[in-house]
Amino acid sequence: MFQGTNASSGIGIGKAVIVEEVNLVIKRETVADAAAEVARFKGALDRTMKETEEMAADLATRVGEKEAEIMNGHLMLLMDPMLTGEVENLISGEQICGEYAIEQVFNMYANVFASMDDELMQQRATDMRDLKTRLQKVMMGVASVNIATLPAGTILVAKDLTPSMTAGINPQNVMGIVTELGGKTSHSAILARALEIPAVVAVTGFMEHVKNGDDVVLDGSTGVVYVNPDPALAAEYQGKREAFLKEKKELEQYIGKPTITRDGVSVELVANIGKPEDVDKVLQYDGEGVGLFRTEFLFMDRDCMPTEDEQFEAYKTVAEKLNGKPVIIRTLDIGGDKEIPYMGLTKDENPFLGYRAIRLCLDRKDDIYRPQLRALLRASAYGNIKIMIPMVTCLDELREAKALIEEIKAELTEKGIAFNKEIQVGIMVETAAASLMADVFAKEADFFSIGTNDLTQYTMSVDRGNEKISYLYSTFNPAVLRSIRHVITCAREAGIMVGMCGEAASDPLMIPLLLAFGLNEFSMSASAILRSRKMITEYSTETLKDVAERAMMFTTAKEVEEYMKAFVG
Ligand code: PEP
Ligand code: MG
Repeated sequence: MFQGTNASSGIGIGKAVIVEEVNLVIKRETVADAAAEVARFKGALDRTMKETEEMAADLATRVGEKEAEIMNGHLMLLMDPMLTGEVENLISGEQICGEYAIEQVFNMYANVFASMDDELMQQRATDMRDLKTRLQKVMMGVASVNIATLPAGTILVAKDLTPSMTAGINPQNVMGIVTELGGKTSHSAILARALEIPAVVAVTGFMEHVKNGDDVVLDGSTGVVYVNPDPALAAEYQGKREAFLKEKKELEQYIGKPTITRDGVSVELVANIGKPEDVDKVLQYDGEGVGLFRTEFLFMDRDCMPTEDEQFEAYKTVAEKLNGKPVIIRTLDIGGDKEIPYMGLTKDENPFLGYRAIRLCLDRKDDIYRPQLRALLRASAYGNIKIMIPMVTCLDELREAKALIEEIKAELTEKGIAFNKEIQVGIMVETAAASLMADVFAKEADFFSIGTNDLTQYTMSVDRGNEKISYLYSTFNPAVLRSIRHVITCAREAGIMVGMCGEAASDPLMIPLLLAFGLNEFSMSASAILRSRKMITEYSTETLKDVAERAMMFTTAKEVEEYMKAFVG
């Protein structure tokens, strides 16, 4: 058995096809005619750009606009005159062959990206290496592995899947993906999820233990992989696969159904998104709105700030597509684990306790916060937008943000620009301070959304990304549960809406407790919506109140979790 990182859920069963990139040997060769070599490079560049455009168009029709964006990102890199200019200068300046110049320049950029402490930037390094090899192959006349023609029943095994390789996959034939490298948020993992192909990544040393034609079974939810499993195990996973597919199909009956408990308590089941394109999946899985739009994703993967107009278009698109359903848009939450290189931020000693989210925005009103708030207000004329402020710790922050919003409203009124005058302004409750002061905040915020990812981190004083202390990171810890219950109670007493947009909102063991506490809104990844709706409609809050009372009597996270496991079954 091999254990990797679960990257795309489902059970994959099939025969291994090992996809190994040819090892290109790139030597430093001198050239007599540098101008001709530059022309040869430009020819390869044109061809690679054309291929990339075709891949993007193919992805856009076959998978979705969001996935095509990855290829469009590659195209932008290829069109960057700085990057290609450096290759040309190197060819001319040192009279060397194009392949070697590409090697030097692209490796240099890839190494810079790889050394950054940010997963997204590291992904950029993969993109750079992918492009480098593609360009070199075109120059050398080496054909690429044709992923599009893999036979039916394939389990694709590779060291790492480059986005361009993943883009060519035919999901009819590829039953699963196993890679030695990569992470949950790598572009290839994102694509695997979009194509709904089960995938396990980061299986260290896997290629040494598998050969072409071996039987492979993988579980994309647990990250487990088997090579040549015995018949009993293979049959067990065949059963799991059938159950997974059956459940997925069965859940479709919950499309269009109300989210209401057996005793008539209605709650809202909404989605977390990062980009406007994500709305398609929200509608596909019948989300009742958006509970968290993480706007920082509009600022990432680019080299300058999105303008007010660009932001306006993005917010307007989401509001219009959701056609009157609530859309909670969180203002920029940068800092902590999310960095943006072009913003000129220095590295904090303790990033999660540092210059992050609302702290940074209030300090940079002119270039960051004002344009974002203006864009949000302008877009509010096109749908049911609500503004949410992240990482609030004290009332002054909420008051200052609200004052700024009022200032911008006055400007817009003066200029005759439309906006929703009654727009709601709420906060994320994700710090210990905000939770303890929830009764006070409830008098001045229009709604709450509990961010359990951070609330757990700040309550337990445990870095949410640190593997070594991850045993402490549990939302089932009684301290965190008390905090959640307190926030919900304060909101209900004040008569404001209280939702949750942290990962706990879709945890099957947590949903019964949250219903018992009186949570109004559950926000989660779109693909979890139907499963959660099914659960919610099967419970009665009256019964759950007894369950929650018992759960809250336990003193350790383990006891609570085990009790809930036994209850949910
Ligand atoms: C949270 O903290 O629970 C949350 C939803 O926000 P993020 O994960 O973006 O910090
Ligand atoms: Mg958070």
